[in-house]
Amino acid sequence: MSETIIKIKHLRKEYPNVTPLKDVNTEICKGEVISIIGPSGTGKSTLLRCINLLEKPTSGEILIDGVPITAPKADVPSIRRKMGMVFQNFNLFNHLTVIENIMAAPMDLLKKSRDEAYGHGMELLRMVGLSDKAFSLPEELSGGQKQRVAIARTLAMDPEIVLFDEPTSALDPTMVGEVLSVIRNLARQGLTMLIVTHEMRFARDVSTRIFYMDDGVIYEEGMPKEIFTNPKKEKTRQFIQKLKVYEAHITKADFDFVALASQLEEFGRKQQVNQKTVVNMQLLFEELVVNSLIPALFQPFDLTFTAEYAEEKGSMKIRLRYSGDALNPLDKADELSLKLIENAARDCVHSYSDGINVLELEIV
Ligand code: ADP
Repeated sequence: MSETIIKIKHLRKEYPNVTPLKDVNTEICKGEVISIIGPSGTGKSTLLRCINLLEKPTSGEILIDGVPITAPKADVPSIRRKMGMVFQNFNLFNHLTVIENIMAAPMDLLKKSRDEAYGHGMELLRMVGLSDKAFSLPEELSGGQKQRVAIARTLAMDPEIVLFDEPTSALDPTMVGEVLSVIRNLARQGLTMLIVTHEMRFARDVSTRIFYMDDGVIYEEGMPKEIFTNPKKEKTRQFIQKLKVYEAHITKADFDFVALASQLEEFGRKQQVNQKTVVNMQLLFEELVVNSLIPALFQPFDLTFTAEYAEEKGSMKIRLRYSGDALNPLDKADELSLKLIENAARDCVHSYSDGINVLELEIV
């Protein structure tokens, strides 16, 4: 067993109106990569902020390398130096160049020489693929590039532990991958990391352990495979199940179908299905819902569009549920539309009972 680097005992954090952390207990070993998942507002971010003392715990104890950092006489600056934090919104200094952003803390706090800080900074920029941006200002970079700089800046302090607070939440979906790939490389290098994330595939691939937070505690923890495929407790099960399902309620003809198509794309990306499946899912949504059903339904209607990913089969199922008279959009579709649908889906089944239509199909 490798040695414990973080120990948390009965950690509690109260705010005036809410107590996000009621009783958190855990031990984390050197080199572990922990992803912290759970519904929003369950104290994931508060936990990270307590660990690096950005928030003062109400009670309980946190030990880093055996040192109680919450004790009144704790040497806070030296404890903080062991930990780096990467934030959702990068927090770069906008008036400094990329390399200056990275050099500032090692020179100020670690008293490194300019040359040394520069050399190490450039090395880190190479590692995150941005050595050609060393003399750019943050405003000249994309969100993904800014976050990679922020990671390099954190690493410049040679931290033993890095805390990531939703590092990809503020990014355009096209830029999520580049940041996750940098974090994945760090995981391989054996850095101890705690990552609050909504990127479940990533959490599953990269972590040694998953913490599912709810009810002010680490409600369930385990190896990624256990948590994602066989969670033991009810709330974890519900949370994991919801991740595999995309659901949209449509009640009027002029709904924002462009936004919905892009949410479908995002859902497909998170499930890591191939691009063809994503395109087919969007095509079916357009042909069946936008072109066929919506014009035929009397307002106000009640239509639920569900896409569900079946991991064991690696396939995506679509389900349309809508009220009104019996109506199978496949009977209404013109020849071209029907051809498109047949190429994109199989096992189309329509059923009707008690005023409710259900159409189910599997995407090819
Ligand atoms: P999560 O990261 O799981 O989404 P947070 O840790 O950000 O959750 O927040 C947990 C709860 O604590 C939320 O209800 C949030 O509104 C509240 N909270 C967080 N920070 C503060 C604060 N500084 N003051 C008051 N309430 C806060």
